[in-house]
Amino acid sequence: MPGVCTDPKHHVHDAEEFVSAVEAACRKRGLRLTPIRNYVLGLIAEAERPLKAYDLLDRVREGGGPGSIAPPTVYRALDFLLANGFIHRLESINAFVACHHPSSRPHSVPFLICDNCHDATELEDERVVQSLDARARALGFTPQAQTLEVHGLCAACSRAEAAPG
Ligand SMILES: [Zn+2]
Ligand SMILES: [Zn+2]
Repeated sequence: MPGVCTDPKHHVHDAEEFVSAVEAACRKRGLRLTPIRNYVLGLIAEAERPLKAYDLLDRVREGGGPGSIAPPTVYRALDFLLANGFIHRLESINAFVACHHPSSRPHSVPFLICDNCHDATELEDERVVQSLDARARALGFTPQAQTLEVHGLCAACSRAEAAPG
């Protein structure tokens, strides 16, 4: 898969750059990135951490985006972004995070979620997903989109916890 970033430390640092990458991917795939979709994507990309659904709605309300955006419109924009693999939804914390390789197709990935600082790392490892898929199919189960959410403490928070004082 070309354009797939395999570095788990690679976060979305530059929101503008990320939105441009999604714009390019939309052009290539014949998708329409409307101003509202673009705006919602930008808010998620700007957030340092996974953005909770209610925080997102707050930001939309305060941000004065294009026109007045009602929550159902925001949810429709999110559906589009999710369906096309530009963002991921973390079910266990009801939050959204920008995908760090927006040029690739929709994909399943394990996420490592820190319960202390709420950082989320996308663990890009095809083998995990493939082996889960194979085991499910062996049981006659047809898996669809899956987001594996692994909770725990990130490296930085583990270090802080271990430090005396
Ligand atoms: Zn991703
Ligand atoms: Zn942490």
